[in-house]
Amino acid sequence: MVDSKPRILRVALPIPLRRVFDYLPPENVDQSTLKPGARVKVPFGSSKKKADRVGVILEIVDDSEFEIGKLKACSEVLDLDPLFSKQQLDLLKWASAYYHHSVGEVIFSAIPTLLRQGATATLPTTRSWRLLATAPEPNDNSLKRAVKQAEMLEQLRQQSRGLQAENLKQLGSGWRNVISKLIEKGWVEEIETEISCSPTHIDSTVQRPDLNKHQTIAVDEISSQIDTFQTFLLDGVTGSGKTEVYFRVIEKVISKQRQALILIPEIGLTKQLIDRFKARFSCSITVLHSGLSDKERMSAWLLASQGKASIVIGTRSAIWTPTPKLGVIIVDEEHDSSYKQQDGFRYSARDIAIVRAQHEKIPVILGSATPALESLNNVKQEKCRHLILPERAGKAVPPTIGFLDIRSSDLNNGLSKILIEKIKHCLADNKQALLFLNRRGFSPVMMCHDCGWIASCRHCDANLTFHQAARQMRCHHCGSQQRMQTHCPDCEDSELVPIGQGTEQVTEILEQMFPEARVLRIDRDSTSKKGEMDRMLAMIQNNEADILVGTQMLSKGHHFPNVTLVGILDADNRLYGADFRSTERLAQLIIQVAGRAGRAEHPGEVYIQTHHPEHPVLHALSKYDFSGLAEQLMQERSDALLPPFSSMIMLRAEASQAGDAMNFLLDAKAQISHSEQVEVWGPMVAQMERRAGRFRAQLIVQSTQRQLLHRMLDQWIPKVESLKKPYSLRWSLDVDPQDTF
Ligand code: ADP
Ligand code: ZN
Ligand code: ZN
Repeated sequence: MVDSKPRILRVALPIPLRRVFDYLPPENVDQSTLKPGARVKVPFGSSKKKADRVGVILEIVDDSEFEIGKLKACSEVLDLDPLFSKQQLDLLKWASAYYHHSVGEVIFSAIPTLLRQGATATLPTTRSWRLLATAPEPNDNSLKRAVKQAEMLEQLRQQSRGLQAENLKQLGSGWRNVISKLIEKGWVEEIETEISCSPTHIDSTVQRPDLNKHQTIAVDEISSQIDTFQTFLLDGVTGSGKTEVYFRVIEKVISKQRQALILIPEIGLTKQLIDRFKARFSCSITVLHSGLSDKERMSAWLLASQGKASIVIGTRSAIWTPTPKLGVIIVDEEHDSSYKQQDGFRYSARDIAIVRAQHEKIPVILGSATPALESLNNVKQEKCRHLILPERAGKAVPPTIGFLDIRSSDLNNGLSKILIEKIKHCLADNKQALLFLNRRGFSPVMMCHDCGWIASCRHCDANLTFHQAARQMRCHHCGSQQRMQTHCPDCEDSELVPIGQGTEQVTEILEQMFPEARVLRIDRDSTSKKGEMDRMLAMIQNNEADILVGTQMLSKGHHFPNVTLVGILDADNRLYGADFRSTERLAQLIIQVAGRAGRAEHPGEVYIQTHHPEHPVLHALSKYDFSGLAEQLMQERSDALLPPFSSMIMLRAEASQAGDAMNFLLDAKAQISHSEQVEVWGPMVAQMERRAGRFRAQLIVQSTQRQLLHRMLDQWIPKVESLKKPYSLRWSLDVDPQDTF
């Protein structure tokens, strides 16, 4: 049958509208070459501002609800080989439906910037230079008076595959001239090669520890399911050898010529970790993280999507990387909140990992010392298999946890006497101490001693934090900053005094108390320069620091063999937090930070300063027992019908006028078709109502029946979309919110 009727391309575009657009194929294009998952350029927008935009073909169909004659044609097809396979497109469509987010925005969030802009999907090339057989021998007469040329020929002789600019640069600034001369003489050729990664093999000379009993069971269980979908929760204290279990599974996967995708929390992806992978697998590893340039990101993405990288490691958004031969997904520190995107398309990379593994019929491993209650509940419901590593691997023993009651004790700038004593002993033993305080800057409040005036942000309902080194006051919520203010604006002569401690102040105090000790501060401010975090981690490894003061950046995954003392200065802040997850988070944090202590053969001690030593959460933690506490928290959630015992969504709104967000949410609430099984809370103003000059409010909808809640959303969201609203108002939907305040 000859089909002369044009087919219709259903195209997704990166715009917030929850719909797709129909186009005709470009003229003079063989229709059989058009495939879903390929990019096209399409005319879009009003006639005045018309510009071609890049879109992705979602489907190719025969009918349109619009009149065929009125459809526009695509202007160009950008990919002959689609960027996404059908399976990958299905995952993206699933995510769009589950999160009720525009499919175009979902797809485009999965594509690197350059490809979004329409760049050709080919691996970038690198230039290199190679010695030809015509080149003279090293001691040839013709080279006697050309020392530089002789030097370069010698370098090139060492590497038959050729050398790149970065290698040749080391021969001095004139290297380009030298190389041109060598090319002129016909001794050297210039070659362009695609960026690539070396082929994968497992180096059999690499030392691998013998697995202990629990590791063996875990590896065997996972290996027995290597060709089927199964979720595993690898629940093991810090230092129990989870990474070793990942390595063994990855070995199995790549030996079958398949790929492994490993997700790491945002702050956990360090050079240390990558080096550990590289040392183990001399193979094609590609890393995707926020520090890459657009070009590097595109190369990494293409190497993965063309199947050339066997191991793909990345932070949250790496979950979308296409991989044609995926064999396993690993989500390390699965409880970490950085797996949830907190703006725009608010997905959970951990949850997507599970769905993706299900689509691809492969195992997914969630690893943690402090699993999320969601994951523990999945174990209870037998959706997930529980693999437990109860002991530290090798010689390390678990840390002891003690509480320092600070109710009636004098604190010396936030440090209790006992803790100071402990630090002294630790330093005398030539060990490292780690002090944890989740507040950067010098002090969180600047106050007038006479009248109580407090420096606050002009754009937010929040205090300004004093940063001494920068001589600034900064808002940690909107990022605004101003010069340091020294005097009260109301009672002219009174000086402002810093109240409370941040990492900067604690560092200063410790330097005064222990003048011999090298104190290292590790927080977002001190590590903002590229490479700084890696440099500091190396200093810790090499014993070039004695006391480490850090925020939660330091709680993630790092291995500090010489740290034997951990002090937690501000646990109380979160003991009574407003979010229903705050005790779960606090417990995870304490266990994680405690896990930094005594990871090698030296036993670790952890001290937590608190005003509430009797608090049941702290009490449970004193046994270094997260699972006991998790049981307790689970019961509370179950009694209150909170997640994971119900599904929750949040509708957030913000506007530049006070009251607008609340009014909008009231209108939205009125559109909900009521049902007994769906509960609606609010609307209410956000805990910090004004942020960055915008007034914020929220509405929570919850049900014990996920399906029902999502059916309700299917009806409701289009109605919310068509509500009248003030110009400045923005709203967003958060499915399974991680932060409810
Ligand atoms: P986790 O990922 O659970 O924190 P790691 O895999 O990083 O733990 O292991 C902690 C330390 O113990 C590492 O130095 C690792 O090389 C070592 N290790 C892991 N498994 C074993 C084992 N079976 N025998 C001896 N040492 C081990
Ligand atoms: Zn004053
Ligand atoms: Zn602010």
